[in-house]
Amino acid sequence: MEGDRCDFCLEGRLKAQEVREYYRAGKGLVVIEKVPAYVCEKCGERYYQAHVAKQMRQLAKRAPRVKARISFPLIRFQEKRASA
Ligand SMILES: [Zn+2]
Repeated sequence: MEGDRCDFCLEGRLKAQEVREYYRAGKGLVVIEKVPAYVCEKCGERYYQAHVAKQMRQLAKRAPRVKARISFPLIRFQEKRASA
């Protein structure tokens, strides 16, 4: 994977990196840290090995093992109308 060309933008190269992944779990969202991934240097597309993707799914299901909760602001996007 490392050094491979990105399938998404077809230009960038993949680099092994640990990322913070926002993962949907039921109605909520969990953040999983230190996920080994391959990230495109150009477009940022992330690729995971099959066993990593599987483990993320399993981790997301195990709510009691949550290490910490963080809060962050949620804002609603509001488009500014161009004044004529
Ligand atoms: Zn790319």
